[in-house]
Amino acid sequence: MNYLLVVAHPDDEVLGAGAMMYTKSRMGHNVDVCIMVGGVAARHLRPEDDQLESDIQSSTRTLGVRNVMKGEFPNIKMNTTPHLHLVQFIEKAIVAYEPDVVITHHPGDTNNDHLHTSLACQAAIRLFQRRPEAKPVKELWFMEVPSATEWGVDQSRQPFVPNTFVEVGEAGVEKKLEALARYRDVMRPYPHPRSNEAIRGLAAYRGSQAGLMYAEAFQCVFRREEGEV
Ligand SMILES: [Zn+2]
Repeated sequence: MNYLLVVAHPDDEVLGAGAMMYTKSRMGHNVDVCIMVGGVAARHLRPEDDQLESDIQSSTRTLGVRNVMKGEFPNIKMNTTPHLHLVQFIEKAIVAYEPDVVITHHPGDTNNDHLHTSLACQAAIRLFQRRPEAKPVKELWFMEVPSATEWGVDQSRQPFVPNTFVEVGEAGVEKKLEALARYRDVMRPYPHPRSNEAIRGLAAYRGSQAGLMYAEAFQCVFRREEGEV
């Protein structure tokens, strides 16, 4: 299986699906990542470009990621970019990596870049309907990003309701924390949601919802199954 993570910022892919990415790559699946705001402006404290680049490489290597595609869309201003440009960028990743499963942000997430990434991704996965030569995406999952998704307080939008629980094991959770530590200035002391304690606690809670020791939770919103015809 080919998994493609489409995220707004460097570190979102680890916060949302780091343990799952590690587990799937260890099982022999391909995991690719597309980061919309891949430039230096993505960082609050703005380390140099090469520092961010080395953080991304170090973190994704820890998780067994195959390829990383980085966009240069403006941080916290993705809403100023035409929707079409975002869609076309994600389509490039879909053509290059031919994913079976695409994973992106939940559209009820409080972070505006996460919302716009999700909306563009929802449009991009329909590429096969516009171009017959494109391999159809089989599934679309939304993920949760601690410190952003749970703050989706807009009652007019649907909240994150997980229905897909991927077992990751304690080793997967620890690798996720290791990969997060490779990004400078992301983690915070407990009780912040981006603390080691909260990340471990969420993995235990999501696991317990499905009778698993540890899991990452997703919301599968599209599934396409081909049959004998
Ligand atoms: Zn983000």
